[in-house]
Amino acid sequence: MTSYIEEFNGIEKQKDYYDNLFAQLERANEEHHAFNLINKDAKGGFLLSTKANICVRGFETDAGSKMLKGYVPSFNATAVERIISDKRFAFAGVTGMDEFGFGTFGTNTEVPARNAFDREYAAGGSSSGAAVAAALMKYQVSIAESTGGSIAAPASLNGVVGFTPTYGTVSRYGLIDYANSLDKIGVMARSSDDARIVFDMIRGIDDYDTTCAVEKITLERRKKIFVINGMLEKADSGIRAAFEKLLNKLGSRYEIVHVDSSIMEKAIAPYYIIAMAEASTNLAKYTGYKYGLMSEDFYKQYNEFFTDARESFGIEAKRRILLGTFIRSESVKDKYYTKALVIRRMLIKEMDRMLKEGYILSPTLPIKAPKIADVKKLSPVESYSMDLFTIPPNLGGFPHVSFPYDYVDGMPLGAQLVTGHGNDYAILDFVKEWEEGFEYVYRKNLGEL
Ligand code: GLN
Repeated sequence: MTSYIEEFNGIEKQKDYYDNLFAQLERANEEHHAFNLINKDAKGGFLLSTKANICVRGFETDAGSKMLKGYVPSFNATAVERIISDKRFAFAGVTGMDEFGFGTFGTNTEVPARNAFDREYAAGGSSSGAAVAAALMKYQVSIAESTGGSIAAPASLNGVVGFTPTYGTVSRYGLIDYANSLDKIGVMARSSDDARIVFDMIRGIDDYDTTCAVEKITLERRKKIFVINGMLEKADSGIRAAFEKLLNKLGSRYEIVHVDSSIMEKAIAPYYIIAMAEASTNLAKYTGYKYGLMSEDFYKQYNEFFTDARESFGIEAKRRILLGTFIRSESVKDKYYTKALVIRRMLIKEMDRMLKEGYILSPTLPIKAPKIADVKKLSPVESYSMDLFTIPPNLGGFPHVSFPYDYVDGMPLGAQLVTGHGNDYAILDFVKEWEEGFEYVYRKNLGEL
C-alpha cells in the first residue's frame, strides 16, 4: 500500500499535466516544506488541501485572483485550525479555483485546473483544484466552499463526494467572502466516510463567526425521494437516461415521487441577484489600499488610484461588480433585490415542506463534463443556467451532497441529494449505503497510483 507521502510525490510528478492544481501544491511542498512546517509531528494518514479562499497561515491564499497575488495570511481559518490540530493530518497545499468563487467550470481564473479524468475537460468549479486533488489522492481530503454549487459541481465532474453542510454549521472565519448569506465551507473526498471524518472536525459554533450557530444536528433518515419534473426535463438526454437508471436502482429501497416546483425551477435569477449584490459589496474593499495590489504611483487622485488597482479583477469579477452595484442601487433595488429575497423565503418554505417528508434528488449538473475550450464559448447566462440543480439547496442553506454514480463516455457523473436543515448526517449515511451497495471504481481510466 502506498503511503500518503509516496502518493503525493507520485502526483507531483504529474504537475505539468494538471496545471493550476499542481502549481500550487508544488509551491506548498517546496517553499514551505508543507509536510513539516504546519504539523511537525504529523503521524500521517491524511493530507489536507484547502481551496484558495480559505486562509492558511504562511501559504499564499489568493482566492484565484490576481488581486490577491502574494497575500499570505498570518492566521488559520477556524476549519483549517481544527483539522491541522489533529495529528493525523499533514498539509498538502492550496488548490486552484475560479476567481473569488465566480464560476461553475473552473475557467474563470488565469490557469484553469484540469479534470482528473482527462486534461482537455473542465474540472468544474469553482472549487476545481479541490475536486481534482480529492479524485487523484486516496489519502487526501480537501476543504472547499460553496455559494451556489461550487462543491457539488466539481465533485460531480471528477467523480468524488462533495459535501456541503447546512449554512451556519461550519465557521466562515478565515474564508474570503463571496456572498456572506450563502457561503458555506464543506468537504470533498473520495468517500462519504472521509467527508464525515472532516465534517465532524470542522463543524460547531465559533466565537469568531456569529452566523455559525447550528448546534443541533439531527439524524432523520427518509424513505421517500422527490424528483422535480420540470428541472429534470432541462437536463441533456444523456444525463436524463443515466439518472433514470439510478432512480430504478434506488426504487427497490426508496419511494420515488415525481413532483412539480415552479419556485425551484426559477431559483437561478434570485440566486444571481443576491449573490452579485453581496459580491459587489465584498469586493469593494480591494482598492489597493488595504487589500489588493497597490500601485506605486502615489501622485494620483484617489479615484484613479483605486481604478488602477481594480484593473486586476478578471472579466467575471468586473461583470459581477457592475451588476451587483446596479441591483443594489436605490432606484431599482425593490424591483430586483427585495423581490429576490421574497422568492428566497418562498423557496425555503416550499423545500422545507418537501424535506420534512423525503430527500430531493437530481443530477448535479444538467450536462456531462464539457471540454475547457467549449466552456469558453458559453455566454455568461448559459453558464449560470448550468447551476439549475445546485442553486436551490444553496439558496435555502440546505445540506446537500454530490456523489458519483455512473459514467458517460468515460467521464464520471454525479447526483445531488438534499435534506432538511441540520439533517446532514442522513445524506452522508445515504451515500455510504450507495457506496456499499453499488461498486464504484475511482479513477477508472487512470488506474490506482
Ligand atoms: N456558479 C455559481 C456562481 O458563480 C456558484 C459558485 C460558488 O458556489 N462559489 O455564483
